[in-house]
Amino acid sequence: MNIVLLGIQGSGKGTLVQDLSKHLDFLLVSVGSSLRDEIATGSKLGKLIKSKMDKGELVDTNIVMDTINKKLSDNKKSIVIFDGFPRSREQADELDKICNVDLAIYLNLKKEDALKRIMNRLTCSKCGNITTRVKCPDLVCPVCNGKLTVRSDDTPEVANKRFEQYRLETEPLIKRYRESGVLVEIDASKTPNEVLKAVMKVIK
Ligand SMILES: [Zn+2]
Repeated sequence: MNIVLLGIQGSGKGTLVQDLSKHLDFLLVSVGSSLRDEIATGSKLGKLIKSKMDKGELVDTNIVMDTINKKLSDNKKSIVIFDGFPRSREQADELDKICNVDLAIYLNLKKEDALKRIMNRLTCSKCGNITTRVKCPDLVCPVCNGKLTVRSDDTPEVANKRFEQYRLETEPLIKRYRESGVLVEIDASKTPNEVLKAVMKVIK
């Protein structure tokens, strides 16, 4: 089963993946982490990706696809979840070439609510745990005692830029997956636990 996660920044994709991993065995394909993994291997491709990212340039779709293919090639899990991918029609077309999308989970959240969450969000610099300022005002990770930090793209300016990019590039994918009958819309304004329950119902 191949699952695509859609939703604006702040809609809770990361938290959902984190919560799902406690209940479900799946391969997580996150483009960001796939690219970082490739860089960590020190390969020729990794060096090319690093040079692009260091210059602030976008990594080409074919390179993104290469890293995804690599991640999928030795996969033995029956459930694959794509997080933060596809982000555009072009990427969705490429994904269609390598696998069937069985389910597209759309975490629907109003822009204003997403912005509120983004401003409250903290990420652990050590283990990647996602939490909030309200829960951890002392900035200490409850999982590993690491330091909680604000993601560098969690500012209103960057968030608004990403919302606009999302509206232009990613939103058309919601229509596309709805028309192909695989889209399930989840009310992402609910608590993480309620969202998790709703998603688990759809997957099982
Ligand atoms: Zn931590």
